[in-house]
Amino acid sequence: MNILGIETSCDETGVAVYAIGVGLRAHAVYSQIELHAQYGGVVPELASRDHVRKLLPLIRQTLDEAGLGTGDIDGVAYTAGPGLVGALLVGAGVARSLAWALDVPAIGVHHMEGHLLAPLMEDATTQPPFVALLVSGGHTQLVAVEAIGRYRLLGETLDDAAGEAFDKTAKMMDLPYPGGPQLAALAEQGRPGIYRFSRPMTDRPGLDFSFSGLKTQVLLTWRDSDKSAQTRADIARAFEDAVVDTLAIKCERALEAAGCDTLVVAGGVGANRRLRARLQAMAEKRGGRVSFPRPVFCTDNGAMIAFAGALRLAAGQHGDAAVRVTPRWDMATLDAVG
Ligand code: ATP
Ligand code: MG
Ligand code: FE
Repeated sequence: MNILGIETSCDETGVAVYAIGVGLRAHAVYSQIELHAQYGGVVPELASRDHVRKLLPLIRQTLDEAGLGTGDIDGVAYTAGPGLVGALLVGAGVARSLAWALDVPAIGVHHMEGHLLAPLMEDATTQPPFVALLVSGGHTQLVAVEAIGRYRLLGETLDDAAGEAFDKTAKMMDLPYPGGPQLAALAEQGRPGIYRFSRPMTDRPGLDFSFSGLKTQVLLTWRDSDKSAQTRADIARAFEDAVVDTLAIKCERALEAAGCDTLVVAGGVGANRRLRARLQAMAEKRGGRVSFPRPVFCTDNGAMIAFAGALRLAAGQHGDAAVRVTPRWDMATLDAVG
């Protein structure tokens, strides 16, 4: 069964084909970074229009790479939310029309379930129950995964998401858009321990996060510094260490609270090298394990949507022909698979 996956929730157009029982056949991502760079952030209307331009060519390209024709598609999965409503509608419209024309089922996938299941796509040894850390541009959540589709929120950010904090901090330090990955690259040249920022909300019980105060600490430190290249790298390093430490402390607590050995990490910040190393060490110390997707599948992509959709379609779930999207969508309201 070949499932075509379509992701258009924000500023990446992602397409992939996942074959049940075989694996990923092909995937392609087109990023709109250059389009939005001059505005310093994603402009929703420009994002929708660019998805319109890129989606069909990208579907053709992905099918060619997989050596498949449209007649080989057995189902279509698309991101139905959460995300930018116009951008979502482009993916939903194309996916539903294609499914209707080919007379195959289509299913709207929850974007965060896509992220959450991405580590399982290429690692069949990881199965629920586990604790998932979702760290992306719009979310920072700890989720108890009892079964695929059965999600219990353990904690989440009360203000900025971790990725958002990376991006905003980078912008404050005059790094080019999009700043998160650039800040992480800069931190590699920073010396540890020159600056120290707090580990927000780790001094009290609970699994919620808060990253906006950290951002302000960095702003004040940067403003009063000599603003040299080395200082910038040192501050970047201290910021990254604070975020990574905070996430690791809460992950360990979440594993203990859920009585779990396995941690799954997903979302764009999951590509961060220091976070991966720190969580790996934490899991090993506890005698447990951690599973990450490859960095390319941490940020937005069509493969995770194809995979999540394939699991649901294989279980007989699919939607009707209506083009419906859900810009705000609580993952705990999803149906379980099977
Ligand atoms: P959401 O999935 O919550 O709707 P999103 O789709 O915009 O948000 P993703 O594509 O999963 O988020 O991830 C993008 C985020 O990941 C950005 O905030 C970016 O700064 C961050 N990010 C990407 N690579 C790294 C890295 N190496 N280190 C830290 N942050 C990173
Ligand atoms: Mg993006
Ligand atoms: Fe995302």
